[in-house]
Order: sequence, then structure tokens, then C-alpha cells
Amino acid sequence: LADDTAAPTPSAVRVSAATKRFDRSETDALSHVDLTVPAGSITVLLGPSGCGKTTLLRCVAGLETLTSGRIEIGETDVTDISAEDRGVAMAFQNYALYPNKTVLGNIEFPLRMRRVDRATRRERALRAAELMRLDGLLDRKPSELSGGQRQRVGIGRALVRDPAVLVMDEPFSNLDAALRDTMRAELVTLQRRLGMTVVFVTHDQVEALALADQLVVMRAGRIEQAGPPEDVYRTPATTFVATFLDGMNTFDAEGPFAAGSMPGAATVGCRTDHLRIGTGDGDDIDLRGQVLMAELRGRDRLVHLDIDGRRARMRVPADTRPSGEIALHVRRSDLHHFTADGVRCP
Ligand code: ATP
Repeated sequence: LADDTAAPTPSAVRVSAATKRFDRSETDALSHVDLTVPAGSITVLLGPSGCGKTTLLRCVAGLETLTSGRIEIGETDVTDISAEDRGVAMAFQNYALYPNKTVLGNIEFPLRMRRVDRATRRERALRAAELMRLDGLLDRKPSELSGGQRQRVGIGRALVRDPAVLVMDEPFSNLDAALRDTMRAELVTLQRRLGMTVVFVTHDQVEALALADQLVVMRAGRIEQAGPPEDVYRTPATTFVATFLDGMNTFDAEGPFAAGSMPGAATVGCRTDHLRIGTGDGDDIDLRGQVLMAELRGRDRLVHLDIDGRRARMRVPADTRPSGEIALHVRRSDLHHFTADGVRCP
């Protein structure tokens, strides 16, 4: 944001063999994590509560130090460099704004701390405010803004320093659903325009799929799977990823899907939209299910089923209202197979 044409030079982030154990803790919050965040793209860290997403983000930002391992930003090893000198900007869920400063005052504050001269400060803050579409609100105090506007001030303040890397920890979780959608779209637009490197933490799979160039699914301090979101969604590497990302149905390989099982598989997985109503043909596997209940989910309906004493869920169009005992089928080619360790069969 230094001038009208310059975008920040994006840097890749490389995390190598990163382990973090907090004092007095008996387990590693991060355990041998290797991750490359390509320059100029959005990497989303996704996983259940306590899996280490925030810890990894804070280590990248320099707010926590690693117990062992290395972090590089661009060509620089920043493992022992302080947060202020890493060129990483941060936006958090609780974007603490200064209540007595105006929007413009809040945005330019990081530059004031760095003793940037007044004219440059003003120019860069105005540019950041314009990027975040806060032009008309510059003289307001935070208490006179909506949640989404406050969020934009927080991001504007993070951007004003020309960061090489922007890290965001559940930045939209205080916002209502419609505003979250808008903010996500704005973030992607801005990120593309500025070519920033963004690391984004969420536990919301919809948000993760919407934003990610690279999706990283974490579990218990480790990376369970990383890759383009389409690949992770289509080809989950483990039963954990399959169920966390998509709520995939999983069955004992000896269960009702036994006919579609492959040698060595202990678990068979079937996506909610791959269970179909009616009798199949040719190579399909036929099943019977009892409808337990159905929830409307916008365009879809999520039907809870009992198949052979096991719970399953099926996604159907909203105008389909199955009830009672019904015939179901699934294509063999739509099944996923996992070993006893929960790892995808080759
Ligand atoms: P959430 O989605 O709930 O924010 P998370 O995936 O971000 O979870 P972290 O906050 O990174 O998880 O926590 C990872 C693990 O490290 C947890 O077991 C947590 O209890 C532990 N932990 C985090 N911060 C500290 C700390 N300052 N001292 C001790 N243990 C900590």
C-alpha cells in the first residue's frame, strides 16, 4: 500500500518439523508439522477445537516460539525473530479496536507506532480504508460501526503495514451468516488484487472450502491432509478427514456395503449425496433403509436413516420427502475404502 501501484511482495511461508509443547503440558500442541504456504495464495487451517490451528498461526506470527523446528518467510529464517520484525500482520476474531480513536486513527495506528511520518501515514491509511470500503466512515468511532464495519477496520489496520503475510484467526466468527459470506468474498477479491499470502484459521468446513487455495486439515497437533480443497474433498486421505470435512457415512466393511468392499478395507465410506433413492441397476449396490427424520437444509434435505441397524445420512433435493422404509442404492465407484487404521486404501 506504499503507493497506488505497489502491492506487497508476497512471501512463501515454510514450516519445517515444527513442534510446540507448552510449559506444564504433557502433550505436543504441534507435533512435527511440515507445511509450505505458497506465496500469494490462501492456505486455510481447518480442524476441530484444540487441534493446534491457533498455535500454528501464532508460531508463524511470532507470538509463540517453537519448542523445535524452523519457520521461514521468503528467504529468511524467522524462527528466532520477534513478531514485530517478521512482516506478518494479524487479524483476529476479537479485533480489539481503540474505542476512543476514529476509524482512520485506528487504521494508521501501527504506522504511528513505527514513527512513520504524518503525511505518509495519512496516505497509506486512506488507501487501506478505501480498499476496505470504509471511505465514508473515517471519522466514526468503533461504537458507531456495525460488526462487519468494525471487522473491516481490523483488517484495514492489518493491511496498512504492507505485510508480506497476513494471518487471520476465525476473523469472521462474530458475524451473521450473510455478512460472513460478503466478508469472505471481499477477502478473496482483496487477496487476489494485492497478491497477499494469507493463512486463515477456521473450524467451519464451508468457510474453509470457500476460501482455500490450499486446505490443511489438522488433528491433534498434526497435519492429517493438505492439498487443493477439491482434492481433499473428493479424495479424503483418512476417515477423520472424510467425516470432519463432509460428514461422510462410514460403515464396517462387513456391514451392508460388504458387496462393494475391497480386500484389505476395514471401513467403507459413502458421501451423503451418493446414497440414492430407488433400486439400482447393473453394478450398483442395493440397500434398504428406514427414514428416521429429515431436516430442510435450503435447497437440500438431509435425511437421517437406519440402514441395517446403522445410522446414515442422505442428501436429497428439498422437494423429495422420503418416509418409511425405502429402497436405496449406491454406485460401487462412489464408495471410499479405508484400512483398520483409518487410512485410505490405495
Ligand atoms: P480452537 O478451534 O478451539 O481455537 P485450536 O485448534 O486453535 O482450537 P489451539 O488453541 O492451537 O487449538 O490449542 C492446541 C492445544 O494446545 C490445545 O490442547 C490447548 O489446550 C493447548 N494450548 C494452547 N495454548 C496453550 C497455552 N498457552 N498453554 C498451555 N496449553 C495451551
